[in-house]
Amino acid sequence: MAGWEVIVVGGGNAAFCAALAAREHCEKVLVLERAPEEEAGGNSRFTAGLFRLVYNGPDDLKSLIPDLTADELANTDFGTYTAEQFLDDMARVTEYRCDPDLTEILVKQSLPTAQWMRKRGVRFTAAWGRQAFKIGGRFKFWGGLTVEAVGGGPGLVEAQTQLAKQAGIEIWYGARATELIADDGGVHGVVVKHKGRTERVAGRAVVLAAGGFQANTEWRTRYLGPGWELAKVRGTRFNTGDGIRMALDVGAAAHGNWSGCHAVAWDRNAPETGDLAVGDGFQKHSYPWGVYINAEGKRFVDEGADFRNYTYAKYGRVILQQPKQFAWQIFDAKVKAQLRDEYRIRQVTKITGDTLEELVSRMDDTDQKSALETLKKYNAAVRADIAFNPNVKDGRRTEGLEVNKSHWANTLDTPPYEAYAVTCGITFSFGGLKINTDAQVISSDGEPIPALYAAGELVGGIFWFNYPGGSGLTNGAVFGRIAGTKAGKAARVRS
Ligand SMILES: Cc1cc2nc3c(=O)[nH]c(=O)nc-3n(C[C@H](O)[C@H](O)[C@H](O)COP(=O)(O)OP(=O)(O)OC[C@H]3O[C@@H](n4cnc5c(N)ncnc54)[C@H](O)[C@@H]3O)c2cc1C
Repeated sequence: MAGWEVIVVGGGNAAFCAALAAREHCEKVLVLERAPEEEAGGNSRFTAGLFRLVYNGPDDLKSLIPDLTADELANTDFGTYTAEQFLDDMARVTEYRCDPDLTEILVKQSLPTAQWMRKRGVRFTAAWGRQAFKIGGRFKFWGGLTVEAVGGGPGLVEAQTQLAKQAGIEIWYGARATELIADDGGVHGVVVKHKGRTERVAGRAVVLAAGGFQANTEWRTRYLGPGWELAKVRGTRFNTGDGIRMALDVGAAAHGNWSGCHAVAWDRNAPETGDLAVGDGFQKHSYPWGVYINAEGKRFVDEGADFRNYTYAKYGRVILQQPKQFAWQIFDAKVKAQLRDEYRIRQVTKITGDTLEELVSRMDDTDQKSALETLKKYNAAVRADIAFNPNVKDGRRTEGLEVNKSHWANTLDTPPYEAYAVTCGITFSFGGLKINTDAQVISSDGEPIPALYAAGELVGGIFWFNYPGGSGLTNGAVFGRIAGTKAGKAARVRS
């Protein structure tokens, strides 16, 4: 048989789930990864490996983490995260725009897909470090995000790569797909630039899993809007929208929130694109316990509007809109122990002071007088009579400010004080291709393009405006598995 049965474009989580699933139905599967091997794995490799998935109790978690001990089970309140909760979270944070059919699949297939990954050999653990707080000697999980891949993103991609190789899947590194080979009968392969040589590679079905366009400065500015060229890219430099463009070129429909993206608070002095040695360490996600101040010395956002899992992905844009595209996150010693580990990395832009006056005097590029006034007004507005509780939306708020804080409003009164300078770090773009529930790419005429499938970041219509933390890996896994399964089956019957 000449050529490949399934060609998968991309080398991240969605691509590997597609390749492994395809291999269950056909023999000849090729993965094309644009990055060289040292930088392979896409955004998936930059992650903490957190997967948002439905679980109805400890038994579901044990099916993913069989080595959970009796002690761990006794000392932890995992709670539950039901399909209804996941659906509600998706609807609420996307302002009710998420595609209902795709979202239902995302939610309902989240646990079975993770169980399939586990069966294939991917190992999971509980995210004790990031998604749980210890209260009265017992861990309590909050926010529906409980499971992570062992070894985080690097561990996930490494495991998937090894599993793919063991399954006889071929991986070409430094192989950039540039074009789909297509005619009226659908897609028949891809044009690839591999180690400097352009070649046509025949395939009976193609899965596009080549990520969004966030690392393409020109597209960012064109689609997300003016100013987005100034954002930093949190992850891989290789996701420049190739997969999306290749599909649009053969008639695919553009779909979803093309002016929207996932973007977070990111160290002001981080490099322009992600650094694998630091991973997601440049993010700064503990703002619900502190206060944001911009270069004009003003607060500009409700830091405690919701659990950070539900606000962090949209606040990057808010920071980008501030004067000089940056802001300070300010904390006092009371909450220091609660700051996530990313606040303790070596590459951090941080100032400290023993008084608020001293702290603001070190805030370069900032209206210091206004900053001090703002902090004092904030302190005076806190409802200190309400107890602080990081595990629930505690209602400990400010009253009477232009921008109030709804929960976890601690006064800044215990030195030393700390301030961290952050800018906007873009994670991935939301707009992309339209797929149906079989992960087939839909043309602008509304019909599936024969033999073309897509999964992961480059699919539009699922995330809009915002995103519930940990849904990106689940999205790639669920639709990658479907795309690979359907492509593998289609390849068998297509000549
Ligand atoms: C710092 C950071 C932390 C994150 N943390 C989490 C988390 O904990 N949980 C979570 O759910 N999500 C997280 N995300 C989001 C998550 O990374 C993505 O949603 C998810 O990994 C996307 O998977 P993907 O396979 O679609 O894309 P990617 O993993 O980005 O893979 C795309 C692949 O396509 C390749 N490629 C691009 N163009 C071409 C081409 N022309 N030819 C061939 N290959 C090409 C790239 O090299 C790459 O290998 C995080 C993202 C970042 C940046």
